[in-house]
Amino acid sequence: MTENTNEALKAAGGETAAESRNFIEQAIDKDLAEGVYTTVHTRFPPEPNGYLHIGHAKSILLNYGLAQEYGGKFNLRFDDTNPTKEKSEFVESIKADVAWLGADWEDRLFFASDYFEEMYEVAVKLIRKGKAYVSDLTAEQMREYRGTLTEPGKEDPNRNRSIEENLDLFTRMKNGEFADGEKTLRAKIDMASSNINMRDPILYRVAHMAHQNTGDKWCIYPMYDFAHPIEDAIEGITHSICTLEFEDHRPLYDWVVREAEYPHPPRQIEFAKLFLTNVVTGKRYIKKLVEEKIVDGWDDPRLVSIAALRRRGYTPESIRRFVELCGISKSQSSVDDAMLEYCIREDLKPGCKRMMAVLHPVKLVIDNYPEGQTEELTAENNLENPELGTRPLTFGRELWVEQDDFMEEPPKKYYRLFPGNEVRLMHAYFVKCTGCEKDENGNVTVIHATYDPETKCGSGFAGRKVKGTIHWVYAGNAVPCTARLYENIIDEEKGVYNEDGSLNLNPNSLTVCEAYVEPALAQAEVYDRFQFVRNGYFCVDSKDSEPGRPVFNRIVGLKSSFVLPK
Ligand code: ATP
Ligand code: MG
Repeated sequence: MTENTNEALKAAGGETAAESRNFIEQAIDKDLAEGVYTTVHTRFPPEPNGYLHIGHAKSILLNYGLAQEYGGKFNLRFDDTNPTKEKSEFVESIKADVAWLGADWEDRLFFASDYFEEMYEVAVKLIRKGKAYVSDLTAEQMREYRGTLTEPGKEDPNRNRSIEENLDLFTRMKNGEFADGEKTLRAKIDMASSNINMRDPILYRVAHMAHQNTGDKWCIYPMYDFAHPIEDAIEGITHSICTLEFEDHRPLYDWVVREAEYPHPPRQIEFAKLFLTNVVTGKRYIKKLVEEKIVDGWDDPRLVSIAALRRRGYTPESIRRFVELCGISKSQSSVDDAMLEYCIREDLKPGCKRMMAVLHPVKLVIDNYPEGQTEELTAENNLENPELGTRPLTFGRELWVEQDDFMEEPPKKYYRLFPGNEVRLMHAYFVKCTGCEKDENGNVTVIHATYDPETKCGSGFAGRKVKGTIHWVYAGNAVPCTARLYENIIDEEKGVYNEDGSLNLNPNSLTVCEAYVEPALAQAEVYDRFQFVRNGYFCVDSKDSEPGRPVFNRIVGLKSSFVLPK
């Protein structure tokens, strides 16, 4: 765009090229223009202590997207510096999720633990420069000495140990001569700093624990704030993008890369985490739901882990679209969870076949349809997309219809089946309800009707109108299957937490239906997606389906009052 069009657009109230770039792009543009960096290299650095969730998807797509946009590189790096919680199950799930989202790390897959040796050497270098010392303070003393937001900290009694003594003690820490918690290595920065992170933070701790990658090689482990900038610097990361809670850690990040004397120090830029209304996103909370077996594993379709969204039927495109719509910001806010549903609905609308499935079945008998006779009807697969073709449907005397499509005593404006009323059976005939049968508890077991052979769909008949159209499946060849309907796992009305701090669970978050579907759906394969008319979009479950007996997860309903924000 030229200067002039920019001006013209501005005058017309439109966006200019510069204004439409988010603040991270603007910072990168500036760095490149000023020659601070000549290329862009980003990374996604998950800690393998759980499955990734929708918030991580934002970070992945942001980092990968920037590398793509600037023709740079993108690394996937496991931040596995903490030997207690990390598991290889999580490493595998994270790789699968990042790949599924389309963020291609090519051959740049790294583990922070591969850099333990170099981190150790940086620590030695800092000691030699008089910038780090070994402390004897216990964790509790450390807290006391740290001070508060309003009071400065107190100097560690070991702060002025000689370089020789520090080198000796640090070597002995490494050699396993001290117990957990007995010694730490601290940076020597400023106990009076207004930023508590700069008050001689711990760089290394003693922990006699095996690490999943390095085994028993180490009994000292680097702290996150020391390790992370070094990992970035080693990999040649230019822009280390992280979330806002690290803003106050940035001076320490800069201190580490400066004192370690890396020739091209990376730069940290923070953005606001993605939160959704009514949805539990934090790894910690999801873990709690999994461990307490409130959900069926990390990929339970009610969760917003990436694995759960995939299993529920979300597409990578819909998640990319969602993240795009959310934008990048510096201020914390929550996005309406209906926007995520909007994105998948928009993605599925044009390409899905619209089939009939009866989720809460009751028998409809058409008494004037000859017993033993059937006929074949033709149904369009998607009226708005003729390319999806047509399919045959069997019609006969006994059908399954939805229980709530019949009422013996209907309220006003109820246009479906009730005695004396006529409705259209989708793709088939008009039928007039004549009554019902009930069991001893008063539950309707069979609905009776008569059909009008003149009203066959596609026959051009237009003699009279009916107000209701209902869906159905022919009982003679319907396929029984399970359909699962979901609601938010948290009861939205009452908030995320109860007074005692426990999660406020919605008892109706899962409804399991023994449904009937069209015979063609028996052959549906795992991850196939359909619209079930009037019931929503469904996806074949990847865990619980069996050949010929699919389990369908409802991805999302058909309608919403959600309006796309301008
Ligand atoms: P959680 O907050 O869910 O426990 P985490 O931040 O501990 O997640 P990490 O594995 O440390 O998880 O995160 C990897 C990257 O993903 C980090 O750069 C982190 O800032 C980013 N990230 C985590 N949660 C979100 C979120 N909700 N929105 C955007 N980015 C996020
Ligand atoms: Mg974390």
